Amino acid sequence: MRLILLGPPGAGKGTQAKLLVTQLRIPKISTGDMLRSAAEDGTHLGLEGKRYTDQGHLVPDDLIIQLVQECLCSEKANDGYLLDGFPRTVRQAEALETILATRRQSLDAVVNLRVPDEEIIGRISSRRICSSCGRSYHLELFPPRQSGVCDDCGTALEQRDDDEVETVRERLRVYHERTEPLIDHYRQRSLLREIDGTRSVDEVTAAIVDILAQR
Ligand code: AMP
Repeated sequence: MRLILLGPPGAGKGTQAKLLVTQLRIPKISTGDMLRSAAEDGTHLGLEGKRYTDQGHLVPDDLIIQLVQECLCSEKANDGYLLDGFPRTVRQAEALETILATRRQSLDAVVNLRVPDEEIIGRISSRRICSSCGRSYHLELFPPRQSGVCDDCGTALEQRDDDEVETVRERLRVYHERTEPLIDHYRQRSLLREIDGTRSVDEVTAAIVDILAQR
């Protein structure tokens, strides 16, 4: 199965991707995770990407397409994948279509998680992430059992550099301008499935699994 999770920053794409890959047994390909890990490793791509991510801007299409192309054409991606955070522009979607056509593959579904802007700002500014396993917490809605520490692996929780309120506002502006047009792009291709992303994590996962089962 080849699946895209679409939605604004903080809609729950990363959280859902983590849960879905276990159920669907396909790898997750997250361009955000790839960029963060490259930045931690101090590679040229990582440091170049961080100049954009820290300001809430999108990393240029060419860099991102180069980053995912290798991954989408690797053996690990032979039996499908879940894309989290890619594509984010029409140009990236077109590049994905070219890669798929070259490999005689197609997408199965594009799931759009709908969450209003006001809720996104509240969610992201209270978001804390485990730097080791990537688990995400919300300080009020689903806090860790022990303050500041991941329930799963005991690592200290951090706030992402791009989760500061002003950066979140900029990420939302960029989302509406550059990424939202993908909703129509995939609707026209009859691939779009819409989900109310304001429901609980488990309800959203169940709704996605349900939609995929109906295909
Ligand atoms: P995410 O973890 O998906 O929220 O991504 C974090 C940041 O990485 C985004 O705000 C962008 O700056 C950058 N990024 C991730 N994926 C892409 C992409 N497909 N195109 C451009 N920039 C991206």
